[in-house]
Amino acid sequence: MPNSERNDAISEPRDASSERYDAIVIGGGHNGLVNAAYLAKAGLNTLVLERRHVVGGAAVTEELVPGYKFTTFSYAISLMRPDIVQDLQLVEHGMMVMPLINTFQPGLDGEYLLLGVDADANYHEIARHSIEDAEAARDLDHLIARLARALKPWMDRIPPNSLSSEPAELAAMAEVRDYVAGLDPEVRGLMEKFATCSAAEILDEYFECDLVKALYASSGIIGSRVGPRSKESGLVWLFHKMGDYDGVPGEWGFHKGGTGGFTQVLARAVEGFGGTIRTNAGVERVLYEDGAAVGVLLQDGITLEANLVVSALDPRQTFTRLVDPDDLPQDLVQHIAEYKFQGSAAKVNFALSGLPQFPGLEGREDIYMGCTNLGPSIAYLEEAFADCEAGRFSRRPFLDCCVQSTLDPDMSPPGKHIMSCFVMYAPYHLADGDWEAQRENLGDTVQATVEEFFPGFSDLVLHREIVTPLDIEKLLGLSEGNIFAGELFESQLFLNRPAPGWNQYRTPIAGYYQCGSGTHPGGCISGAPGKLAAQQILGDRAV
Ligand SMILES: Cc1cc2nc3c(=O)[nH]c(=O)nc-3n(C[C@H](O)[C@H](O)[C@H](O)COP(=O)(O)OP(=O)(O)OC[C@H]3O[C@@H](n4cnc5c(N)ncnc54)[C@H](O)[C@@H]3O)c2cc1C
Repeated sequence: MPNSERNDAISEPRDASSERYDAIVIGGGHNGLVNAAYLAKAGLNTLVLERRHVVGGAAVTEELVPGYKFTTFSYAISLMRPDIVQDLQLVEHGMMVMPLINTFQPGLDGEYLLLGVDADANYHEIARHSIEDAEAARDLDHLIARLARALKPWMDRIPPNSLSSEPAELAAMAEVRDYVAGLDPEVRGLMEKFATCSAAEILDEYFECDLVKALYASSGIIGSRVGPRSKESGLVWLFHKMGDYDGVPGEWGFHKGGTGGFTQVLARAVEGFGGTIRTNAGVERVLYEDGAAVGVLLQDGITLEANLVVSALDPRQTFTRLVDPDDLPQDLVQHIAEYKFQGSAAKVNFALSGLPQFPGLEGREDIYMGCTNLGPSIAYLEEAFADCEAGRFSRRPFLDCCVQSTLDPDMSPPGKHIMSCFVMYAPYHLADGDWEAQRENLGDTVQATVEEFFPGFSDLVLHREIVTPLDIEKLLGLSEGNIFAGELFESQLFLNRPAPGWNQYRTPIAGYYQCGSGTHPGGCISGAPGKLAAQQILGDRAV
């Protein structure tokens, strides 16, 4: 069902006294929907409450200009867990992921890398620049795939509680240590490198060609306030390699109809299992008595009852806005206060009258059948990051661009295109001015940057939509516009996401749980937080 149809299908609250549910999920982003689908499938009378007029959260498709469908925020299906697709029968509900066929990395000197799904062709493409780099890329890709495969089981498990002295938790901690110790030394060595080195340090070890290094480095900076030479970029890079599509490690895909097409599939699954979704239903507070959840208060004053309430919002919202932080342990509140959001990304979406042309590859539609990385060297990326550190958006940003209409022609009118540009860096806190004043300047800068790589680009622009970090916060509730509901730093992952002792989806309030991207394993379209939280909830109910 298109978003517009679902928008109208909002039932007005009935008599408040009759509104009682087994479970209420706050936030209809993809994790909230996954969580609700599992709860409904387990037989709980489940209600999803979404503040916006449309479900999907950061994964929505919006037709802001007639005929042009924009993936307002996220654009690619990255880390989606295959077991969720099976469990929730998502293919039956219309899931259709189209693999990205090519990655295009243009330089500013007419050079480029065009990589696809054929490993041999990729070898020859990199060898055009450096045979040593082609050999090194083969080795590194293989080793990263082995590491990702080794770590993947932990994406699909509730992590242990490092503060607990319960025998089961101590055993689970020991299991983690044994697992890491038992890894193949080469794989463990790479894991340690990702945890302790910057992306650029690792890349300097493997490659000589700047274009190749920059292509790999982009995975280390996406959505995070780090440059390729920042220590944390190693781990961010590894995180982005944890996905696969159809068994191909690290592969991402576009969903038919954009990421919003995917969340509409999830919404159908929720309803298919008997759950209810209500849009235009912002939650003001979680209600609790004697330390146990009893329901929610909506922003329009309506009260709904449930002894199970799940927040799919970020940790700041979950622990300090939806409940009174004075009612929580103060070490947890302190931890959440120090939890790093520091959003640094923006989005500019274009409606185009035709395809941009790259000098020398004019007329080649295939170069856009995937992601196009504009950021041709480590120095370019570092310069972009330096602007962010100085409190301004990058004067020459790194852009991850997708012309989804090449793979999915229904996204735009015939012959026309949409282009989504993910922008690094755009710091939430500007040193000078505010985001309203800077909005059009950001749009102009992004457009000028694309023009540098694709001369004549501006002549194709029919319309553009600018999404600042402040918009991300205001529209979705993602604090400071952090796209992952908190940085993907070691201090905020696995045992620590969102806080040590509270990384198992529970909260100090009985019956109140968390299932958003601020919980393990973290942000991106994976569904894992939603699923693992449901597993914890259903396990707790069974005890
Ligand atoms: C600009 C951008 C680009 C991205 N690109 C990609 C990408 O290409 N691929 C990828 O895998 N990931 C990407 N991400 C990250 C990914 O989209 C998110 O990590 C993920 O979608 C978050 O899902 P969620 O369900 O945890 O939370 P959200 O999607 O943030 O959902 C939370 C929901 O709660 C609702 N809400 C907020 N407050 C209330 C309230 N008080 N009451 C009721 N409802 C409320 C919000 O409206 C929202 O619908 C991107 C994110 C952004 C912002």
